[in-house]
Amino acid sequence: MTDNRNEMPPSLWAATAPAPPETAALAGGASADICVIGAGYTGLSAALTAAEAGAKVVVIEAAAIGWGASGRNNGQVIPTLSRMDPDEIAASGGAKGEEFVGLIRDSASLVFDLIRKHDMDAEAVQNGWIQPAHRESRMAVAAKRVEAWGKRGAPVSLLDRAAMARLTGTDHWHGGWTNRSGGRINPLGYARGLARAAISAGATIFTHTPAEAIARDGAKWVVTTPNGRVVADRVIIATNAYSTDLWPGFREEVIPVRSYQMATAPLTDNVRKSVLPEGHALSDTRGDLYFFRFDANGRLITGGALALGFDWENRIRERIGRRVAAVYPQVGVPKFDYVWWGYIGATADKAPHVHELAPGVTGWNGCNGRGVALATAIGRELGRQATGTPWSDIPLPLSPVRPIPAYGFAKRIAPAAILDRRWRDGRD
Ligand SMILES: Cc1cc2nc3c(=O)[nH]c(=O)nc-3n(C[C@H](O)[C@H](O)[C@H](O)COP(=O)(O)OP(=O)(O)OC[C@H]3O[C@@H](n4cnc5c(N)ncnc54)[C@H](O)[C@@H]3O)c2cc1C
Repeated sequence: MTDNRNEMPPSLWAATAPAPPETAALAGGASADICVIGAGYTGLSAALTAAEAGAKVVVIEAAAIGWGASGRNNGQVIPTLSRMDPDEIAASGGAKGEEFVGLIRDSASLVFDLIRKHDMDAEAVQNGWIQPAHRESRMAVAAKRVEAWGKRGAPVSLLDRAAMARLTGTDHWHGGWTNRSGGRINPLGYARGLARAAISAGATIFTHTPAEAIARDGAKWVVTTPNGRVVADRVIIATNAYSTDLWPGFREEVIPVRSYQMATAPLTDNVRKSVLPEGHALSDTRGDLYFFRFDANGRLITGGALALGFDWENRIRERIGRRVAAVYPQVGVPKFDYVWWGYIGATADKAPHVHELAPGVTGWNGCNGRGVALATAIGRELGRQATGTPWSDIPLPLSPVRPIPAYGFAKRIAPAAILDRRWRDGRD
C-alpha cells in the first residue's frame, strides 16, 4: 500500500464510507480567526466547535479528509488511554489531572452524541467496549480498572470467565471488564461526517493543501501553503502521528508506529452469530494487542503489529490468520478481503501531550493507539480555547514540547518493541 497523499489508501473504510463533502485545494490567500492544520478527528472536532461558537475557521489538510489515522483505524470507541490508568493520569496531570480523567471518561459518549446530533452515516453502535484478560493474572488489572473508573462514575463492570465467554463467543480469555459507553463506528464515515458538520457550521476545509511553515506577522500568524497562505489570529496543529516539520521539536515528540488492519470476507450467518454475538468491540490486555470487531456487513475486522516491515502484507495475513483460527476455531483461517495500515503516534511516556506552543498556537501529540474518542475530546477543547474559553476552564494539562532523544534512531528501532511486548504478554 502506498502512502500517497494524492489518494485515499485502499481499505475497508475507503470502500464503504459515504463520500466526503466536496473540497478543493487553497489557491491564493485566505484569512480566518482560526487556522486548523490537519483534517482528522482533532482538527475537525476543533473546527466544528470553533465554527459553532461563531469563529471564522479555515482547515488545511495535506491530503484528504480522514487521510491520516482517523480514516484508517479499527473504529473502536474507547474511553480510556492505552497504558495509563485513571490514578496515574490524575497524578501526572497535576492540577488538571482529575479534570482530564473526566474528559476521557466522557469521551466515547461525546463521539456518539456528535454522530447522533449531526446525523452522521458512521455505522455507530454504542453497545459497550470490552477488554478481556489474556492471562488469569491480568484479572487483577481488570479489577483495578473497574474500581478506578467506577469510583469516577464511568459505566464499568467486571466480567467473569463465563460472562466473557458469552460476550465474545470463545473461551480464549479469562474474564475482563467492560465500559458500556464505548462501542464502534466506521472511522472514515465519522471523519467525513465531522467534516460535513464543520462545513455546515461555517468552516472552510481546503484539502491537498499542506502547511509548509508557520510564522508570526505582527499580531497574526501566517501559515504558508504551496499555492497560498492563511492569515489567522490562532493556529491549531492537529497533525499528530502524521506531523511534518512545522514547529520545532513537535514532530520529534511522537514516534509513528505502524498498526496493520484487516477485514475478512463477510462471515456466514451461522458463524457470525457465534462470534461476538452481541456485536461488541474488544481489545485485550496484551501488549501485542488482540482486537476484534464486526462491520455492518459481518466482516470481522482485526489486525496486529510486525517487528519488521519487509513483505508485510503476506506476513501479517499469515500471522493474523493463525491468530483468528486460534481464538475463533469456528471461523478458521479466514480470507482477508482488505489489508491496510496506518501510523499510531507513540510518546515516550505513553501519555498524550497537549501544548500551547506560542500565544495563539496550540497542538497535541500521542494518542498511543487510543484516539478516536480522545482526539475528538481534545479537539473540542482546543476549539473552545481558541474561541475564548480561558485555559483555567479547559480540562487539559499542558506540558512543554519534549522531543525524544536520538529521534532518528528511536524511530528506526521502535517497531522491534513489539518483541518485548510479546515476551511480557507470556508472563505474569
Ligand atoms: C491503524 C490504526 C488503528 C487504530 N485503531 C484505533 C481504535 O480502534 N480506537 C481508537 O481509539 N484509536 C485507534 N487508533 C488511533 C486513532 O485513529 C488516532 O488517535 C486518531 O485518529 C488521531 O486523530 P488526529 O486527528 O489527531 O490525527 P490524524 O487522523 O492522523 O490526522 C492528522 C492529519 O494531519 C494531516 N497533516 C499532517 N501534516 C500536515 C501538514 N503539514 N499540513 C496539513 N495537513 C497535515 C495528515 O494528512 C492527517 O490527515 C488507531 C490508529 C491507527 C493508525
